[in-house]
Amino acid sequence: MIIGLFPIAARSPISAFMTQTLHIVGGGMAGSEAAWQAANMGVSVVIHEMRPKVETFAHRTGHLAEMVCSNSFRSDDHEQNAVGLLHWEMRAANGLIMAMADKHRLPAGGALAVDRDPFAESVTETLMSHPNVSVEYGEITDLPAEGHWIFATGPLTSTALGAAIQAETGADRLAFFDAIAPIVYADSIDMDIAWLQSRYDKGETEEEQKAYLNCPMNKEQYEAFIDALLSADKTEFHEGETAGYFDGCLPIEVMAERGRETLRHGPMKPVGLTNAHNPDDKAYAVVQLRRDNALGTLLNIVGFQTKMKYGAQTEVFRMIPGLENANFARLGGIHRNTFINSPTLLDDQMRLKSRPNIRFAGQVTGVEGYVESAAMGLLAGRLAAAEILGNELDTAPLNTAMGALVHHITGGAEAKTFQPMNVNFGLFQPVDGLKGGRRGRKDRYKAYTDRAKAEWQTWLDKQS
Ligand SMILES: Cc1cc2nc3c(=O)[nH]c(=O)nc-3n(C[C@H](O)[C@H](O)[C@H](O)COP(=O)(O)OP(=O)(O)OC[C@H]3O[C@@H](n4cnc5c(N)ncnc54)[C@H](O)[C@@H]3O)c2cc1C
Repeated sequence: MIIGLFPIAARSPISAFMTQTLHIVGGGMAGSEAAWQAANMGVSVVIHEMRPKVETFAHRTGHLAEMVCSNSFRSDDHEQNAVGLLHWEMRAANGLIMAMADKHRLPAGGALAVDRDPFAESVTETLMSHPNVSVEYGEITDLPAEGHWIFATGPLTSTALGAAIQAETGADRLAFFDAIAPIVYADSIDMDIAWLQSRYDKGETEEEQKAYLNCPMNKEQYEAFIDALLSADKTEFHEGETAGYFDGCLPIEVMAERGRETLRHGPMKPVGLTNAHNPDDKAYAVVQLRRDNALGTLLNIVGFQTKMKYGAQTEVFRMIPGLENANFARLGGIHRNTFINSPTLLDDQMRLKSRPNIRFAGQVTGVEGYVESAAMGLLAGRLAAAEILGNELDTAPLNTAMGALVHHITGGAEAKTFQPMNVNFGLFQPVDGLKGGRRGRKDRYKAYTDRAKAEWQTWLDKQS
């Protein structure tokens, strides 16, 4: 069923069918998992997938759940790693993506690496042979006015659909590139060097006047930092990605290439700031970090989007005074990536507030990665199916990995600076009575994962 059939209100026989059917646009990680979950709950599902009729620059096949780049689902450690915990939660929920990843697992130490072609073939065959699932090949280019829909069209959402989403949400609520500045765990910053202050102490409240964390550099440190930026390993754009991003958000290393002083007059300008530890010391340059979540556990390095390789990023960013021991919740990047401003557009059921018959799931909601995308598909599939069956389901509990992630994208994240996010422990609410900092980390992470598993199991049990 393709474009032009919608809205379908006037077509009464189909209309009755449509109200009971869940339509999922995009058969990637999220769409495949959503279909599996809803179909297993007894709901009839149609997956609309544009490939192989319409290609993207990154996919190679017409299979569902194709892994477009690396073959890794990252850490499988469900006690000490947030993505490993997400694996655990999806396995407990009978997730298809995890089951097929386990079936086609390749040796990779503590990581879950996957044999990509058999994996995608197995996901495709399993869904195709499910009695409640059918697949229709073709591009959807509109947001339908009726029926139950999940849009899981991913980072390479087709151009026509992107335009339809923009028409519904407003142009500034749909991004075509991410421009991710690195995100640092607040408790790994050396506060004997850094201090809190907004430029010129701007703001009405103390909170606003101290909204930024500042890391000062002297001339020598700045020059060494510029040298490191210029010589660092960088990644190139994939063929087919355009460089249209250059207008709005230059990578810092490109700024440095334009002149050694450019950063000092841009994101690293030292004006309007007084070093709280040494007021007479005038910094030559200042790196600023800003709160990235409501909990204040994560901070992003302002204006530091970058195409440096991950290894180079940690090395270069740890040269910043105060960040010598920084732990990164995520590293920076710039990619072709279509995503909506979920914190303003979606409710906690992942429904578009302006059109509640439509849910979004997967990377297009502003999560990042195969696992996170599949997880958001799992949740959206269950929420949508429950709604169709007339038993609305609470969204995932806040203290689970699933809940922390969905809460972040639908409310916890700063809407103005919203950029795609991996799951990480910085999204979790603290557990009372545990030691902060590096030393307490192992116990803290174990406490998060124990709490999450118990709450996730309770949430699942309620549905059985
Ligand atoms: C170049 C590139 C490299 C990446 N590398 C990695 C990596 O190494 N590791 C990692 O974890 N993540 C990586 N990602 C992110 C990765 O794509 C996502 O994590 C994951 O695939 C997202 O799952 P999804 O279901 O949201 O989207 P996808 O898996 O992309 O699925 C979306 C599906 O929707 C279909 N579609 C799009 N528009 C329409 C339409 N209008 N009508 C019908 N169907 C449509 C697409 O054909 C696609 O099959 C990469 C992304 C890109 C673009």
